[in-house]
Amino acid sequence: MFWEEKIETMQQGDLQALQLERLKKIAADADQAPFYKNLFVKNKFDPSTIRTLDDVRRIPFTTKEDLREAWPYGLLAVPKDELVRMHSSSGTTGRSTVIFHTARDLDAWTDTLCRSMYMTGMRKADVFQNMMTYGLFTGGLGFHYGAERLGALTIPVGAGNSKRQIQLMRDFDTTVLHIIPSYALHLSGVFEELSVDPRRDTRLRIAFLGAEPHSEKTRGRIEEFYGLKAFNSYGLSEMNGPGVAFECQCQAGLHVWEDNFLMEIIDPDTLEPVADGVEGELVLTTLKREGMPVLRYRTKDLTHIIAGPCACGRTHRRIERITGRTDDMLIIKGVNIFPVQIEKKLMEISDVGNNFQIILERKGYNDHMIVRVEVVKELFSGDLKQLESLRKKIMEELRSDILITPRVDLVEPNTLPKTEGKAVRVIDNRTD
Ligand code: ADP
Ligand code: ZN
Repeated sequence: MFWEEKIETMQQGDLQALQLERLKKIAADADQAPFYKNLFVKNKFDPSTIRTLDDVRRIPFTTKEDLREAWPYGLLAVPKDELVRMHSSSGTTGRSTVIFHTARDLDAWTDTLCRSMYMTGMRKADVFQNMMTYGLFTGGLGFHYGAERLGALTIPVGAGNSKRQIQLMRDFDTTVLHIIPSYALHLSGVFEELSVDPRRDTRLRIAFLGAEPHSEKTRGRIEEFYGLKAFNSYGLSEMNGPGVAFECQCQAGLHVWEDNFLMEIIDPDTLEPVADGVEGELVLTTLKREGMPVLRYRTKDLTHIIAGPCACGRTHRRIERITGRTDDMLIIKGVNIFPVQIEKKLMEISDVGNNFQIILERKGYNDHMIVRVEVVKELFSGDLKQLESLRKKIMEELRSDILITPRVDLVEPNTLPKTEGKAVRVIDNRTD
């Protein structure tokens, strides 16, 4: 049932005692790094004064901009020759940040992935096809070492090359996939093109979906098409990468590995903590990383804590799937919209295909939103009235949710640009 039972089922009180002990150590370690030394002095914070977990709130926040400014070595807390690996973020919102690991850091990271995969039901008899980019991106190597340690045959295929992916799944009886959700949707179109039915022609049973926000509806579509159980995998390179929070078999929120990460949820405006169940920005502190501790990192990801115990028996608290990152938020005609809201609505409509794109334009003082949506092929050969009524329906559905009326364009399958990595959902042509 458990990879590391003792730690995964530790009572919250004991877990908090462990967190406090680690917080004291990590704050003292961080004081060795030029960036934190300076930050602590500036804010008159003395790490030796930490007495309770609440004292974490006296530590100043760290942001992505801080990491960019301290580039490349400003956050190192150990001599450079202790490091064995470098990774970087994807650079979704600007210049990438770099993260360094010692051998022990990699070891701890790998364990969080073993736990995560094991709790979904993956075992050593599984064949694991890792469809994430290898290299600086953390999704590839992070899972790779986890799966090997778990003992599963690991296929390090990396991203892209859809036909080859499908061939590998069939030839080597792949049972577990690690895949970006938007790519999983795209790949389902390739399966159809090849007349391969994953339910009939493969032995897939589990997928790990990570790296980008996706809705419950998208998970449902993927589970339905591939005939497997899909689990949400959350992480960010600043906190190692994957293995920060992961769904268990209950699929009711993601357990945050609290022995490795101290979690806070704050109101992004007031920076005060919010109550359990209230949405806010996730703030994380590495509790174990010796090479490059990062304290109170503002992830910009929005979620809330799900209170109460989980039926799986794990005690580490759960968060809801991420609804978006604050810097993803679109402001159109004064209305705040997250791309995942649009995704969710679209994926509820059965004739909608696997891809969509949001285009923003400005005419005079007016912002316009155009949503381009791939829809099933049959609609283009049949009665065009059907196409028009679907277009109207999508427009209506979106308007009822996002409160503005976008223009909706329907296009044939596989016509919108796709990426092997994180989906690029928004093209903002508005110039300020
Ligand atoms: P970047 O910040 O440049 O995108 P990363 O590759 O480190 O670089 O990506 C981490 C970010 O990806 C997270 O902060 C989050 O916004 C997003 N992300 C990762 N996994 C998930 C997930 N399961 N659900 C929603 N968003 C996710
Ligand atoms: Zn659980």
